[in-house]
Amino acid sequence: MELYSGHITKLIDELAALPGIGNKTAQRLAFHLINMPADRVNRLAAAITEAKANVQYCKECYTLTDRDVCPVCANHNRNHKLIMVVENTRDLAAYEKTGKYEGVYHVLHGAISPMIGIGPGDIKLKELVERLQGEVEEVIIATNSSLEGETTAMYISKLIKPTGIRVTRIASGVPVGGDLEYIDEVTLLRALEGRIEI
Ligand code: ZN
Repeated sequence: MELYSGHITKLIDELAALPGIGNKTAQRLAFHLINMPADRVNRLAAAITEAKANVQYCKECYTLTDRDVCPVCANHNRNHKLIMVVENTRDLAAYEKTGKYEGVYHVLHGAISPMIGIGPGDIKLKELVERLQGEVEEVIIATNSSLEGETTAMYISKLIKPTGIRVTRIASGVPVGGDLEYIDEVTLLRALEGRIEI
């Protein structure tokens, strides 16, 4: 027996496929959406479609942006010889919020995780190596302190070491497994200032 109409079931299935949303939450959201005024539903649908159509990778750092080159990379006052490697755009935003970092970034879009089959070829590592052909003085590895983040940091370090470019890792003190975006600005700055060569 079908519990809900086909359209509702389809909506629930789509929502349940999103990260962090279980079946119960998906049902709750589906009924909430259906009870919303049509113009709000249209605005939400349009926001999703427009974001998907217009957001792209920055040609230099691979963060998500509305332009070819993101505002950080386009800023000539930033130190383009200093590259901070982060796992995702949210981590970049966390460091940007401190307003104290003057270098540029490189966004990997993930971390190496053999457990779930994510290898070096699945994140933006080749792109990082390509960037190092230019004038780079230091690469700061700011991946999370989770197992995946540490594995990725070691991999990058081994990759860059032979080039002679300085490789540093942000200081620990960032909670294990904690997403960088949830950490306060003071902790982030301390981690950045206390970075050590690896
Ligand atoms: Zn950029």
